[in-house]
Amino acid sequence: MATGTPLRVLIVEDSAEDAELLIEELRRGGYDPVFERVDSSAAMVVALNKQTWDMIFSDYTMPNFMGTEALARVRERELDMPFIFVSGTIGEETAVEAMKAGAQDYVMKANLQRLLPVVERQLHEAAVRRQRKREEETVAYLAYHDPLTDLPNRNVFFDRLQQAVLTSYREKKPLAVLLMDLNRFKQVNDAFGHQCGDLLLRQIGPRLRRHLRESDTIARMGGDEFAILLLNTPMEGASLTARKILKALEAPFVLKEATVEIGVSIGIAFYPDHGEESDVLFRRADMAMYMTKQAGGGYTIYAPEHEESAPRRLMLTGQLRRAIEYGGLALHYQPQISLKTNRVIGVEALARWSHPQLGQIPPDEFIPLAEQTGLIRSLTQWALKTVCHQREVWKEAGVTLPISVNLSATNLQEMQLPDQVAELVRTGRVPAGLLEFEVTESMIMVNPMRAMQVLTRLNTIGIPLAIDDFGTGYSSLGYLKKMPVQKIKIDKSFIIDGLEDKGKGNGNGVIVQSIINLAHSLDLEVVAEGVEDQSTMDRLAAFGCDAAQGYHIGYPLPAGELTAWLRESHREM
Ligand code: C2E
Ligand code: CA
Ligand code: CA
Repeated sequence: MATGTPLRVLIVEDSAEDAELLIEELRRGGYDPVFERVDSSAAMVVALNKQTWDMIFSDYTMPNFMGTEALARVRERELDMPFIFVSGTIGEETAVEAMKAGAQDYVMKANLQRLLPVVERQLHEAAVRRQRKREEETVAYLAYHDPLTDLPNRNVFFDRLQQAVLTSYREKKPLAVLLMDLNRFKQVNDAFGHQCGDLLLRQIGPRLRRHLRESDTIARMGGDEFAILLLNTPMEGASLTARKILKALEAPFVLKEATVEIGVSIGIAFYPDHGEESDVLFRRADMAMYMTKQAGGGYTIYAPEHEESAPRRLMLTGQLRRAIEYGGLALHYQPQISLKTNRVIGVEALARWSHPQLGQIPPDEFIPLAEQTGLIRSLTQWALKTVCHQREVWKEAGVTLPISVNLSATNLQEMQLPDQVAELVRTGRVPAGLLEFEVTESMIMVNPMRAMQVLTRLNTIGIPLAIDDFGTGYSSLGYLKKMPVQKIKIDKSFIIDGLEDKGKGNGNGVIVQSIINLAHSLDLEVVAEGVEDQSTMDRLAAFGCDAAQGYHIGYPLPAGELTAWLRESHREM
């Protein structure tokens, strides 16, 4: 016997014959309906609680129940399964009312041949709604979690720390911030590969959890860095916890075939002894952690002497200032290509610092330094000037390419930047369409009102804006809707390891696909960064991603080499 498509239907109907006719029609259409008939509010509630229904059919007028009431029972439960009126009496006006009240469709009993097409369409639409809901949940999840370890992410940590400081102040209770870095993580990654590194990171949380209270927070801050917030904990308690953690992480980790031992470095700072504000506390825990690392592992409690013994920082700050002023920095340019046309659609400008004695200093080191010391303003100025100059050089050479520049939180706090950009555009040093900015959500969240003004102003000048590192920040799509942005860049951590979902529900593939779909529903363009191989590029194209950037396409290159790359790659726009 051929079986039809299973369909669970709830029928709100006082006439058993009418219900039977409906079921007959469904069977005729190839469905295999499992159904229940109810004709009172109470029976309906029982049925709704009992199981999930694919679809509800309801008569409009019944002796002791109204169809509109049935509809209300469903919607008050926020169930969004299709609800279809099937009635002999419904007039056009009532039908319109019913649809307004939230019914998906209506069918006349006298015209039952309309039923099957209606059912088919409604099932399809319900599937689309479910899919959209799943996507929204996936992206909302990213706002609070690190998807790899399932731990709270850095934003959650900072929020909780800020809250905790306020509570501790009110209740006059101490608290401790522990910052922790794995000592040999890079070696593990290099020796056994990314996947083993990921396995290792996933085991950290569960091992720590056993030694902490329910109210303590463990968060992954990024890379191999974790942070722990101990509420209502004085110095002795925190030292004890630090020793337990060290011991817990001393035991070998089993990663597929390999067994590795890693050490950790912990830095600790207390409220109120070491700071009364969350960012001060965090920075001091970081400083203490740096001291621990120098010592090769263990834990260190912050002490004021640590401030003086940060000579590299001090020295670098002075040298960075001079490098910005005297041309010690350079911009490299990394191509972005369209996944539809395979052509280059623009380049991202990335700062490089080649230090005369220390060699290449990575931007992840000097950009935060510039941000903390206020040098970021002049660095951004310099980047803009350099980009304008480069644009002119490229124009001479017949190359027209939009260039995107990274901004920092500080840049979003003042109107100076949009004013300056307006001037550059007005004087024709750079046409508006050839300059683009990238900002992260956390930069916006530092002062959302202010950032909104600056970004709106930039947009009015005609400068497109992209949200950088999407998925690691607040990922608040609600917010994004209100922001004057045109593009999002999916953070490379979702892309680098590939997009295969190895049986895991919330793998990178699902996450990336969800981000792309939702961004498109908001009319945002999507760029994936960190594309390191062809199979990832193919999947991104299949997902409908608009553009890609990454080592597989091209490394960030000095301007001259990028020009050559453009010519050779035949991808000029
Ligand atoms: P970002 O804006 O997310 O830039 C992308 C980073 O990913 C760059 O690192 C780039 O070299 C790297 N990348 C590109 N493709 C791949 C890939 O396929 N695989 C991997 N593993 N990495 C890839 P970079 O150049 O080290 O820059 C680091 C960060 O420093 C940037 O991250 C950005 O936040 C910041 N930065 C760089 N230049 C500037 C600047 O001029 N101003 C500001 N405010 N920040 C900058
Ligand atoms: Ca960027
Ligand atoms: Ca990025």
